[in-house]
Amino acid sequence: MTTLGLEYIFDPELIVPSETAKSSIAFWARLWRRVEDRQPRLGAASLEGLLELWEDPPSHEVIAPADFQKLIGRLASRAIERGSPGHVVCAAHWLPAYKPSLGHEENPARLLRDLSGVPFGNAVFVSTVEECWTDLDAVPSCQACVGQRVYLDLPGGPTAVNIMRAEFLRTSHGDPKEISNAALVLFPHLVFSDVAWVGLSTLTGDKRELTVSLVRDLGVLNDHACAIWEQTVQNHERIQLMKTFDVVASPEGTKTHRSPRLMSQRDSLFSGVSRRCEWHTKLSPSINRIHFAVEGRIVYIGKIVDHLDTA
Ligand SMILES: [Zn+2]
Repeated sequence: MTTLGLEYIFDPELIVPSETAKSSIAFWARLWRRVEDRQPRLGAASLEGLLELWEDPPSHEVIAPADFQKLIGRLASRAIERGSPGHVVCAAHWLPAYKPSLGHEENPARLLRDLSGVPFGNAVFVSTVEECWTDLDAVPSCQACVGQRVYLDLPGGPTAVNIMRAEFLRTSHGDPKEISNAALVLFPHLVFSDVAWVGLSTLTGDKRELTVSLVRDLGVLNDHACAIWEQTVQNHERIQLMKTFDVVASPEGTKTHRSPRLMSQRDSLFSGVSRRCEWHTKLSPSINRIHFAVEGRIVYIGKIVDHLDTA
């Protein structure tokens, strides 16, 4: 999968088994499960390992020949075209941190070769296995490695969408307008109204700072708002919980509520359906608002605007 500067690849641990694991059901069952994943692709060294398996297949007692062929076909079709320069991480930092579990003993070196073939323009997200990483602290401590933008898909680590947001901010020209083009990828759970982006030009302040705050607030709405709304129906508690993610948000005050005219400014059309987006995040204390509504598992973004009238 290549999306917005992120290449998602398999750790060779998942592809190339050790001699022992080649005849273990555990290895093949794990690979079957992982192939269902969000389409990680295969680096050059993993592909070589896969083709060696093709030459010398596992026993039909651990995997039926038809299933084996299907698996190889699905994986081989996901090979990455090599590009240069690729991602070169320090072997001295990565190799001691990584021990194959069911994978082949040469897999740590294979992983580094796979990384070196992923074009540097993309960050890399590695679909990996937690038990292989014996000393994770050693990996991110080196600036040279950090600069390679290689991330491991592990529990508690960054998610694909977090990485894409960081990549977006790294490569953006600091114009908030760029966000609208990438919104589907950066905020997959948000639904934007027909006019959501129309008021973007009314926001005031430094454009790069606005871009950063918009990505932060929309990111928190995407990642956490539904869970917060489910957790409590009390407005003051929702406000507090949003604050724990560094987002200031609130509904309108009583006076504004009393005016149907003012409240109707909070209505926006979503594919022809009107929704009231009264809650808003505040990018800065007195100006720049993201108006939204949470309904079930969906966050609707009505208007992104300097401010709407209040009483
Ligand atoms: Zn390093």
